[in-house]
Amino acid sequence: MSDAKENGLFLQDTMSRSKSKVFAEKEDLLRFYCCGPTVYGAAHIGNFRTFVAQDLFRRVTECNGLKTLHVRNLTDVDDKTIRGSIKAGQGLKKFTDHWKDRFHNDCSALGLLKPHVEPSAVAHIAQQIQLVENLLKLGHAYTSEDGSVYFRISSFGEYGKLSKLKSRDLSTGASRRTTVDDEYSKESLGDFALWKGRRPEDGDNFWESPWGQGRPGWHLECSAMCREYLGDSFDLHSGGEDLVFPHHENEIAQSICSSGKPFARHWFHIAHLMVDGGKMSKSLGNMYTLDDLTNKGYAPEVVRYALLSGHYRQPLNFTFSSLEAARSAIGKLLQANNLLGGGDSPSYEDSLARGSSELGPFNASWEALLDDLNAPKALGALFSAIKKIDLAGLMGNEKDNLRSSFWFILNAFGICLPKVGAIKDPPTKIKVLAEKRLQARLAKNWADADKHREKLNEAGWLVRDVPSGFELIPK
Ligand code: AMP
Ligand code: ZN
Repeated sequence: MSDAKENGLFLQDTMSRSKSKVFAEKEDLLRFYCCGPTVYGAAHIGNFRTFVAQDLFRRVTECNGLKTLHVRNLTDVDDKTIRGSIKAGQGLKKFTDHWKDRFHNDCSALGLLKPHVEPSAVAHIAQQIQLVENLLKLGHAYTSEDGSVYFRISSFGEYGKLSKLKSRDLSTGASRRTTVDDEYSKESLGDFALWKGRRPEDGDNFWESPWGQGRPGWHLECSAMCREYLGDSFDLHSGGEDLVFPHHENEIAQSICSSGKPFARHWFHIAHLMVDGGKMSKSLGNMYTLDDLTNKGYAPEVVRYALLSGHYRQPLNFTFSSLEAARSAIGKLLQANNLLGGGDSPSYEDSLARGSSELGPFNASWEALLDDLNAPKALGALFSAIKKIDLAGLMGNEKDNLRSSFWFILNAFGICLPKVGAIKDPPTKIKVLAEKRLQARLAKNWADADKHREKLNEAGWLVRDVPSGFELIPK
């Protein structure tokens, strides 16, 4: 066991319902697994709240001196991907490859560090079959007439420990994601499918197994991939709060029953992003993708900032005014950067090498991050440190130290300020159009402002509002 620092990162653990220190059990390497996206459409910004929070977790852990092994899967076979590919008239691979690419583009625009391993479910069918065989052999699973295999939850005494659900509640809760059209004949309502016998509506999407043709259940893939890349026991497992039950509960049951060893030591769950106070959903028309927002003129770093601005344990309400606030906060950070001497911030790796020592006035911001990733408190402390800076009395090297501390905090957050020189001078007609848009905005003539913005977009320019007026960024 190794602690990176005396004062490590303390993080809420869903299992123990208390904050505990994040540490690496083996070889100074923090091994963690994040449930990745189901690639049947563009990820929405709610999904990205979770992925951005996990990115913050990784950055803070690494900036605190601990190396990580970050595994995040791609769910490329399940009901939704199969249904989507059939509807699109494409093979499953072609269909999911398209959405994987889109996901990767969005991740890089949002400044997410790439996971070290990004395994896909389809590429690990053999490992999943092996897990099912083991569970059958040990008596934790049973086959049904249609070629499906179910996990018998009554065979695992600790079932429900993570979600604190009593066994009588399990049958109702279990209907949330997997049961609707996924489960056939089971001994008990709470039992879940490890393997699903082939059905006509699956089209060509089936694999051979000792129980006949079929496909793996959704929960199984994560257990198999955790085991493949992190071993039976590892440091931390994460996902959005909706995954606590049944997904993570089922992963725990499958993995522990198969290996006889502990599974993840720490559980990190992120509360949901809400839109205008309600649930985000396609049918309500309030589901946004990153593209939806960049097309409205909000740069990805503004979206990232808005997603980071709430504490991960509290639901976060997404509004356009929160994006405006994020935009103006980034404007203020840019001003602070100029005040401190300007220039591009160093790479993330440079900040890692610098380490978290002697952060001066920015220490309060760093301490807030180490205390359960309290991003709103850390941002508040960042801005109050900026306000208090008195450059008049500073020697040259003191100013340099201050700037390197400021950049360290920005890198820990993954906040990216527009690069010096990245904003090329736009042609006059573009500037005139942007000026017209600004005037329309100031006059609260939103329809005209939108029209001008669209024209700018068509001409290849994104416009964003900054305290001094607007900025034009080539798309
Ligand atoms: P999915 O693509 O549905 O498998 O979800 C990918 C990740 O996004 C999972 O960790 C989910 O828990 C998470 N997630 C889904 N909806 C939201 C939301 N509205 N806010 C935050 N995270 C979410
Ligand atoms: Zn998972």
